[in-house]
Amino acid sequence: MGNYTSNKIEPESSNNRKFILGIIDVQNDFCKGGSLAITDADDIVAPINKMRFTYINEMHTFVTQDFHPPNHMSFHTTHGKDAFSKIDLKIKINGDELNVTQDLWPKHCVKDTDGADFHPDLIVTSRDIRIQKGTIADIESYSAFGDEFKNKYENTKLNKILKEKKITDIVLTGLATDYCVYYTALDALRCGYHVHLVLSCTKGVKPDTTKKALEDMTQKGVFMYDSVDDFYDYYKNVRNIKK
Ligand SMILES: [Zn+2]
Repeated sequence: MGNYTSNKIEPESSNNRKFILGIIDVQNDFCKGGSLAITDADDIVAPINKMRFTYINEMHTFVTQDFHPPNHMSFHTTHGKDAFSKIDLKIKINGDELNVTQDLWPKHCVKDTDGADFHPDLIVTSRDIRIQKGTIADIESYSAFGDEFKNKYENTKLNKILKEKKITDIVLTGLATDYCVYYTALDALRCGYHVHLVLSCTKGVKPDTTKKALEDMTQKGVFMYDSVDDFYDYYKNVRNIKK
């Protein structure tokens, strides 16, 4: 995936930069044996753990969970259609009427089930900011910030929390590159953050949509790194760390 790391327009180096690690949806249903298992998803757990504890133990971390009610609009079962098909929906929410084309998925990450739990090897601590999304039956929220309408209908308050902490840079990892990571990156850019993506710490649902998402993120200015070590080389420079 090295083609995507050519974005070298580096944001200004400064001691005022404050980074946060974002771990998106590393949950059982998206990993081996889960209802919406992503190929090789389990391979990203070790590098994510390495990222947070071997190198960057000073960094704040947020972890997200897809956390759906059992009748969520993204489940094929809700509409009696095939999984991995699409459906055009007219959604009425908060007095608005929205026309959306929705990808339909196998039932996944239903709140308070094992499938919604974090991968057993993922290190999550009590200091991590925990964000749950997709909690409203009538709207999709791929992004950690909320729905795709600038978080008008579901707002996870992540942006408010990050602004309060004066975060300037979000380092994204997790699942899936072409959906929840992608939409989180777009929202993060819209909210004014520098966005970084570590490619060894993310996997996509399908090759074609993953390629498209990576190209779009690159074009929009997301900084990409092949590995945790590559990210750390960049981070050391910015933070003036001498080891
Ligand atoms: Zn979902």
